[in-house]
Amino acid sequence: MKAICIFCGANYNGDLVLKQSIDQLAEVMVSRNLSLVYGGGKVGVMGLIADAVLNRGGKAIGVIPQFLMDKEVGHTGLTELHIVESMHQRKQMMNDLSDGVITLPGGLGTLEEFFEVLTWLQLGLHNHPIGLLNVNGFYDLLLQQLDLMVEQRFMKKVNRDLIITSADAIELVNLMDNLKPEPEEVWFKDKNIT
Ligand code: AMP
Repeated sequence: MKAICIFCGANYNGDLVLKQSIDQLAEVMVSRNLSLVYGGGKVGVMGLIADAVLNRGGKAIGVIPQFLMDKEVGHTGLTELHIVESMHQRKQMMNDLSDGVITLPGGLGTLEEFFEVLTWLQLGLHNHPIGLLNVNGFYDLLLQQLDLMVEQRFMKKVNRDLIITSADAIELVNLMDNLKPEPEEVWFKDKNIT
């Protein structure tokens, strides 16, 4: 991998374990010359990861729609800041500029972004490894829901297993590096249950 796209909250809840994980992730990215691609904001976890990478001498590339420049306070100290017109353009460009994805704790926006790139992977539209940094078990319940979808035959286990999960940033990057995810078709062969 050369650049990792990070999806994360526009808020930060003050959790020190999360802060440590963000710093650890920045550390491993900079030491391996992996650029950060992210939403371009200065607020919340977004701002923390961008500053953590920049303070260590790394490269941080932001992609932000004009209408969010004020709300999320576009980061002015980035290596590159791309201003786009829409949320869709933003997500597409973030995916085009990176070759791996890591999702950190966040809210609705984070989940929306995570699931969209995951569904793009499942449909074969890209082949970037997708990781979930499960800090302090933050995403345990979400993963349980996905397991239920597999159990209830709304998702194949192979596709559920496309999500690389770890609570540890270094382990997560190690698991993702050189990984070529192999999704299966979404549709079950015997889907015609009536
Ligand atoms: P959140 O996880 O809600 O704090 O949002 C984190 C980031 O996701 C912010 O940069 C939002 O701009 C972005 N985002 C992307 N898609 C959406 C969406 N559909 N709704 C809300 N936020 C979004």
